[in-house]
Amino acid sequence: LSDKLDKALHVLKGHGSITEVNVAETLKEVRRALLDADVNFKIAKEFTNTVKEKALGQNVLTTLQPGQLMVKLVKDELTELMGGDAEGLNLSGNPSIILMSGLQGSGKTTFSGKLANFLKTKKSKKPLLVACDVYRPAAINQLHVVGDQVGVEVYSEEGNMNPVEIAQNAIAHAKQNGHNVIIVDTAGRLAVDEEMMTEIANVHKAIDPQETLFVVDAMTGQDAVNTAKAFNDRLNFEGVVLTKLDGDTRGGAAISIKSVVNKPIKFIGTGEKMDAIDVFYPSRMADRILGMGDVVSLVERAQEQFDEEEARKLQKKIAKNQFGFDDFIKQIQQVKKMGSMKDLVGMIPGAGKAMKDVDIDDDAFKHIEAIIHSMTPDERSTPAVINGSRKKRIAKGSGTSVQQVNQLLKQFDQMSKMMKMMQGGGGRKMMQMMGK
Ligand code: GDP
Ligand code: MG
Repeated sequence: LSDKLDKALHVLKGHGSITEVNVAETLKEVRRALLDADVNFKIAKEFTNTVKEKALGQNVLTTLQPGQLMVKLVKDELTELMGGDAEGLNLSGNPSIILMSGLQGSGKTTFSGKLANFLKTKKSKKPLLVACDVYRPAAINQLHVVGDQVGVEVYSEEGNMNPVEIAQNAIAHAKQNGHNVIIVDTAGRLAVDEEMMTEIANVHKAIDPQETLFVVDAMTGQDAVNTAKAFNDRLNFEGVVLTKLDGDTRGGAAISIKSVVNKPIKFIGTGEKMDAIDVFYPSRMADRILGMGDVVSLVERAQEQFDEEEARKLQKKIAKNQFGFDDFIKQIQQVKKMGSMKDLVGMIPGAGKAMKDVDIDDDAFKHIEAIIHSMTPDERSTPAVINGSRKKRIAKGSGTSVQQVNQLLKQFDQMSKMMKMMQGGGGRKMMQMMGK
């Protein structure tokens, strides 16, 4: 998915502004990528329509690449679609009861072990695992193996075929033994059927869990959505666990399920090992899907700080060759508002690593600002008038040397030439130059 989106958003690079044509092109690719990731057709279409409206309705920032703006729009929309904020577990019960539901092979038993481990190590809980998959002896055994691996007690009853009874007995056992969380593993079948649903609904009713989690294999794509709906209709579950999201498994199910049942995805499973569990963060998942890392936060910060109106004025000045030191200092102040140079450079893909050992001196700006402040308005708007004696005066006034003044004048001259060449590239190019 990430590759496809990369490519899709690439379409926009090199274009000066987001036009209706290249928005449509890009979104066609985005939609294709979503469909390939098993996102429901209707949802993918709605999604791209929303992004399109927002893209066209928004004034393109002259200071940034339109492609990045699209990345941000797509990312924000994806995040929203997957639920906005991360949602935790309700562990207010004493003991808190968590019921696992889902088809056979979805990963319930494995996830039960992972969750027990997570609650034990990360939340200092004392969990109890309960084996309510009574049809296959191997299933009970499997839970014991998992429990041993994470050092969590497993409650099971040999020969008892009544999961409701077992679950109730387990609660009593937990209370007696100071367990504050109970994780009930249940039997699933290969497909949704009435018997399975009745059984889990009975267990659900009898133990009244704080959290019923629906566990679903992310690789099952569209089927995952139908299964989620069937379970939700019967159990009205609290949250979803998306398993087998290892490596580059398509994350489309996350998007579709949330849209269809409107329940938060709470955890993801990313491997067979007991530590392969992650809290689900919609924005991280969107990042992962987009594969663009910190570009998004760079765009966000830039958006907060750059005044579009200013940027437009600046472009006009550059085009008319009227760019002076007053404008220059404004630009520096804008960039400074965005954070330290080091932070900023670190957010540029690729540059972060390359620049890691380079010392970027935020103080360098102080000299520059001091020099500019020591200039007269005339000197600022027409730097050509700055002769030898003026340089001496400026250096003295700013506590710098004539050499430093010369250096700044030279840099400024080069920059003005470059900007003219670029024909009004605006703040983005300024930023690039100042980063150097
Ligand atoms: P259950 O029938 O719902 O209890 O499913 P299991 O917990 O027995 O899991 C079925 C299979 O999926 C097992 O082979 C697990 O090792 C595997 N599995 C479970 N979760 C994950 C995961 O997050 N990633 C991968 N790669 N495999 C998983
Ligand atoms: Mg199982």
